[in-house]
Amino acid sequence: MLFLKFRIKPSHQATRSSSLPYLSIIGGGSAGLSVASTLAENLGNKAVAVVEPSDVHYYQPLWTFVGAGLKTFDESRMAMSEVMPEKAQWIKDSVASFEPNKNIVKLSNGESISYDYLVVAAGIQMNWGKIKNLSQALGKDGVTSNYSADSVVKTDEFIKTFRGGNALFTMPSTPIKCAGAPQKIMYLAEEQWRKAGIRSKTDIKYFTGLGKIFAIDKYANELLKICKARDLNVNYFTDLTEINPESKEAVFNVLGGEAKGTKLTLPYDFLHVTPPMGAPDFIKSSLLANADGWVDVDKETLRHNKFANIYALGDCSSLPTSKTAAAITAQSAVLKNNLLGDIFGDKQIAKYDGYTSCPLITGSDKLILAEFSGYTGQPQETFPFDQSKERFSTYLLTKEVLPEIYWKSMVKGTWDGPAKFRKLFRSA
Ligand SMILES: Cc1cc2nc3c(=O)[nH]c(=O)nc-3n(C[C@H](O)[C@H](O)[C@H](O)COP(=O)(O)OP(=O)(O)OC[C@H]3O[C@@H](n4cnc5c(N)ncnc54)[C@H](O)[C@@H]3O)c2cc1C
Repeated sequence: MLFLKFRIKPSHQATRSSSLPYLSIIGGGSAGLSVASTLAENLGNKAVAVVEPSDVHYYQPLWTFVGAGLKTFDESRMAMSEVMPEKAQWIKDSVASFEPNKNIVKLSNGESISYDYLVVAAGIQMNWGKIKNLSQALGKDGVTSNYSADSVVKTDEFIKTFRGGNALFTMPSTPIKCAGAPQKIMYLAEEQWRKAGIRSKTDIKYFTGLGKIFAIDKYANELLKICKARDLNVNYFTDLTEINPESKEAVFNVLGGEAKGTKLTLPYDFLHVTPPMGAPDFIKSSLLANADGWVDVDKETLRHNKFANIYALGDCSSLPTSKTAAAITAQSAVLKNNLLGDIFGDKQIAKYDGYTSCPLITGSDKLILAEFSGYTGQPQETFPFDQSKERFSTYLLTKEVLPEIYWKSMVKGTWDGPAKFRKLFRSA
């Protein structure tokens, strides 16, 4: 077996304690990069490897704005080489499998790398193939999705060229990243069609495989009021399973209510699809996975429940909270504290409280800033006002300020979320 020369001798070995370990991070997305810089700074030159196959890093939260033509696609991306920490070693490949009993990961190219500590941050897997004909239909004749770098600009094009008819927006029954994104684009599309004077000849329907429009009642209640006021028809327990591009029909499985077990077929002129998602296959089939396929970590410490030298964060982890980049800001601080504590012997354990956030954009000048703990189901708001109300200030924050924080601080490992501001505002 060929072993990759990841364990190269650091150039400043003389100044670095020879007892310091080597660390591998799997994934250079939002989660991987939020920890990579700090760990590389602490462990020294090239002691940290980031395994990441992609040439491009995306700030995906911007894709709702891109799909509505409010930001350009270019603003959501950066070359991976630009954001990869200088002191980390980028291994441009993907992990094929794990051998945690031997402290080895195997790469797709057949090589293996060894580690002393491992951080898994490989994101969530999009299961496009689970909706019949979706892969062929995507990006054509009104079928689009903000969940793919390949189709997000098509959303903008199809909204602008829509001339009225049936517009359907779907959300699957599986866990997904940013559970608000499937409906945010509906509010933005509806606003554009209203302004274009075609709203009266447009029927808008939202289909979710779940039983609620949003997990937290405080925000769900406001969203339902908005849907009612704007004539957006919300349907529960309906999962998109098939698209017939020739007849322009969408087929749903009805999962609950009186029609449970039946199929519903509807014509569409515009169809925004959120695909089913799940744990990445290479994690699901590994010893790292829990019963649902996610990396099985302690929900407070982020340490693996069986392998003490493995941590995980972000969308691929088993952390029972809503999967967002905002959640990662809090998770990364906890992970770095606990992992560096293992290495340097500091036993002050940090605990993640399930913090997550979803900016529910409801128009091109307003949003509801949902912030809550996925562990308690209770709001965990930063600002000293009721965040369940639509506001311009939180819209501006999300559209203009958060992207700056992301590129200038989060990917560099220096942003650990709004907790300190929350304490400041709440104690004032
Ligand atoms: C349309 C949309 C809107 C969103 N809106 C918001 C929002 O408003 N607010 C918010 O906080 N979040 C939002 N999110 C969610 C947020 O983008 C994700 O939760 C976040 O990016 C997760 O980070 P991650 O590092 O876990 O996964 P990712 O950022 O997806 O990164 C995973 C990385 O792992 C790499 N990888 C995959 N497989 C392998 C492998 N086998 N080996 C090595 N590397 C691998 C990938 O190439 C990728 O770079 C949104 C997402 C979308 C799509």
